[in-house]
Amino acid sequence: MICPTCTAQNTATTVHCMQCGTTLIHEAGGHSDNYKKAANDLNNKMYGGYGSILGFCLVGFVLKFVLADLYLDDHQIYGGALGGAFAGGIIGRIIARTKWRDS
Ligand SMILES: [Zn+2]
Repeated sequence: MICPTCTAQNTATTVHCMQCGTTLIHEAGGHSDNYKKAANDLNNKMYGGYGSILGFCLVGFVLKFVLADLYLDDHQIYGGALGGAFAGGIIGRIIARTKWRDS
């Protein structure tokens, strides 16, 4: 698929232009609703993934350094960070759904 903004060549399934980040799926006419839904699902998963990583790092960092006075062992910190990853994934997906709900 050729990007309408920068004319870079992207693969047919690319959601965002590799070159400039333009959302190709909304520019392209003739795609089925299923295709658009799949693209939105992909965006949701991406946001969920970012949220998970962010949540994991954030909670891990806070438990390890900010709340160091609690003297949690590494297992407890890891468990807390996993909880943060889970929460972050959900928050990321909620943000993604809010963002693409109307498209
Ligand atoms: Zn582009």
